[in-house]
Amino acid sequence: MRVLAARRLPGEAWEELGDVELGALDERRVDVEALIVAGDTVDESVLDLLPSLRLVASYGVGYDNVDVVACRARGVAVTNTPGVLDAATADLTFALILATRRRLVEGDTIVRTGRWATSWSESPFLGRGLAGSTLGVVGLGRIGSAVAQRARAFDMHVLSVRRTEGDLDELLGAADVVSLHVPLTQDTTGLLSRERLALLRDGATLVNTARGGVVDEPALVDELVSGRISAGLDVFVNEPHVPEALRALPNVVLTPHIGSATVETRAAMTRIVIENVLALARGEPLKTPV
Ligand code: NAP
Repeated sequence: MRVLAARRLPGEAWEELGDVELGALDERRVDVEALIVAGDTVDESVLDLLPSLRLVASYGVGYDNVDVVACRARGVAVTNTPGVLDAATADLTFALILATRRRLVEGDTIVRTGRWATSWSESPFLGRGLAGSTLGVVGLGRIGSAVAQRARAFDMHVLSVRRTEGDLDELLGAADVVSLHVPLTQDTTGLLSRERLALLRDGATLVNTARGGVVDEPALVDELVSGRISAGLDVFVNEPHVPEALRALPNVVLTPHIGSATVETRAAMTRIVIENVLALARGEPLKTPV
């Protein structure tokens, strides 16, 4: 079976794949039956180039990069890598919560640039503690639940919403930290609109390790420039582009979409991708169809 991969994935499991072509998704290949992508866009134009395609194995749990409807219409299955990245992404979420609430990056910069002048007792770098504060989890699924579990260990109160449970507007007005864990879909695009961002409490922190498009990014920039709220952001609307205004702000901690980026997690994600491709080759049921 001919396999095309947009890139080589890390981890030992990759070797089990055998013969695989590495290449860009920009030329016609009539014999490719399985396609491995990692954040790469798979739309009608890509599908047109691969007329024998039977599987898109996507590296990651979010599959907003793949036009699943177009795939389904052509009989192409789609798989993702759910579950194995929950802990890594929840850890990164918590790292952003702590870094933002305790002003870690600002402090680091002050020390590195030799501007640490005051004694600790008169430090202007007062942050906000987590114990006793309220976390609002938007999307209490696999990753959101892992974040809620960590929050309880930090003695935080936890509020949450799912598709059919909880009131988002109420949560936004009640939480000290709001953390986003919904997939990017038609329903969640711009879920945190300008009006909803305005519901956040003064001094609140918004953490986004879901997808940039879940938030109205220009409205978020405006809120952050005003200094009313702070944010920890791992994802952006047009990655790797990050709005210039954000980069200059002290009340934002920025990371380059590294939610699942640990050695162990990425190897486990690769294994799931390979298991799906090998299942297709053997005519067995796919392991993680979406
Ligand atoms: P999941 O288990 O499917 O959980 C998603 C949750 O979102 C579910 O609880 C779902 O509600 C809820 N939800 C969906 N639409 C909603 C809406 N309109 N309003 C309120 N809640 C809604 O997904 P997961 O595995 O936790 O992953 C979540 C997302 O994280 C992924 O889709 C991906 O985009 C992102 N992610 C990012 C990174 C990174 O590197 N930064 C890493 C991994 C994942 P129900 O329970 O009612 O269905």
